[in-house]
Amino acid sequence: MNDQHSRPTGRLYGVGLGPGDPSLMTVRAVEVIAAADVVAYHSARHGRSIARSIAERHLRPDHIEEALVYPLTTETTDHPGGYRGALDDFYEEAAARLAAHLDAGRTVAVLAEGDPLFYGSYQHMHKRLAHRYPTEVIPGVTSVSAAAARLGTPLVEADEVLTILPGTLPEEELAARLAATDAAVVMKLGRTFPTVRRALERSERLAEARYVERATMSGERTGALADTDPASVPYFSVAVVPSRIANPPAPPERGEVVVVGTGPAGPLWLTPETRGALASAQDLVGYTTYLDRVPVRPGQCRHASDNKVESERAEFALELARRGRRVAVVSGGDPGVFAMATAVLEVASEDPYRDVPVRVLPGMTAAHAAAARAGAPLGHDYAVVSLSDRLKPWEVIAERLRAAAAADLVLALYNPGSRSRVWQVGKARDLLLEHREPGTPVVVARDVGGPEESVRIVRLADLDPGEVDMRTILLVGSSQTRVVRRGDDTEITWTPRRYG
Ligand code: SAH
Repeated sequence: MNDQHSRPTGRLYGVGLGPGDPSLMTVRAVEVIAAADVVAYHSARHGRSIARSIAERHLRPDHIEEALVYPLTTETTDHPGGYRGALDDFYEEAAARLAAHLDAGRTVAVLAEGDPLFYGSYQHMHKRLAHRYPTEVIPGVTSVSAAAARLGTPLVEADEVLTILPGTLPEEELAARLAATDAAVVMKLGRTFPTVRRALERSERLAEARYVERATMSGERTGALADTDPASVPYFSVAVVPSRIANPPAPPERGEVVVVGTGPAGPLWLTPETRGALASAQDLVGYTTYLDRVPVRPGQCRHASDNKVESERAEFALELARRGRRVAVVSGGDPGVFAMATAVLEVASEDPYRDVPVRVLPGMTAAHAAAARAGAPLGHDYAVVSLSDRLKPWEVIAERLRAAAAADLVLALYNPGSRSRVWQVGKARDLLLEHREPGTPVVVARDVGGPEESVRIVRLADLDPGEVDMRTILLVGSSQTRVVRRGDDTEITWTPRRYG
């Protein structure tokens, strides 16, 4: 007491105890508890600590026990700071109690069910104490591993992604994450169970989902999540969507065609919904370039084809679905913008495909990706025109360009040119120059989001058809579109929202 400076402080341990069965504690956890002066554990107001009960056989009468009892378990409190405020006060007070032991040179072991740094209460002590005292965390077997072990089925294999979700997330967020991932574990069920169940349903993962309650503890229960009575679900339970490779979902009751777009380039611009549809399809149908963006999955059939003959490709997909297959038709960008959705719906409007279910999922279109790279040129009214005269006469295109130009619309020009279509851009430029200033900004965006991305802003009069190919999109400004040089010397373009 008289010489604070020379007395060493005690050590702090966060001790993972595993999921429940005491024999799943690590040797190190047992050693640390044996050497500790103080054993601390969190509990609810009823005072029963799951952590303490796991470690019970290693506790001795000479251990000083510190029960850190949560002041509340529901989210109602009269604390001025609300639920958070009440909890913060509790953690501060608990940390101060442990600090007093550490200052007195006593070793403190904070027990944590599962792993201490995995959604554990220990973390609140760690954040407040670890920078002040020598601290060590002893990892533990998590409920994720325990649940998978009890289900006895692979959780993830090969390139599969495992997503761990707290059930406290909003339903929409859960559904998006569940749709996009391969395997998932949803923690913190209990009161969140109905929301989690709905999210599994909306993401079409309910049939795969398993339920594990009190894994490796007494009263353990496992089963199909869909068959679990929501009223019976405690906090100590998880939902598991195991490996799709190891547990291929049952074939669908009915075939279906889902028309999806991969976005203009890589996975950053793929929606979670589309990612999910691509993963759960039995057959992928599409133009080779777009199919190549979709990772190969075991058990999935890929039908790559040439860019032409869209109606044949659509019919092929519908025929597979009619025979009961779950088919994804893959386009680039958005599937409804100059892409496969119309071709599929056209064929699906006729016999014998009228009854085949078809869904179109939205995607990000090239114009929006290109616009974002260049600034905000589409910030006001704009028109979208394909310059390809493969499916419509050039005179129709010219007429539309004239009308859009006369209406002072910004223009997004898809399919501006290719190896065989070389004169369209020059013709379009000359036509637009009849209505627009030569200095009108044009965004020339090529391979946006891809390895050869280039985005330049040129004057309309200087637009060179030689620089345009199949992977280019053009955004032509209106009379209002501005080009600004920024402090870092980059040029951006934007169209004001206010007109005139
Ligand atoms: N469904 C697609 C468009 C298909 S038409 C979409 O919504 O984006 C094909 C045209 O799209 C190309 O000729 C080009 O004009 C444009 N395009 C598609 N991806 C692009 C990208 N990453 N960069 C620039 N243009 C792109």
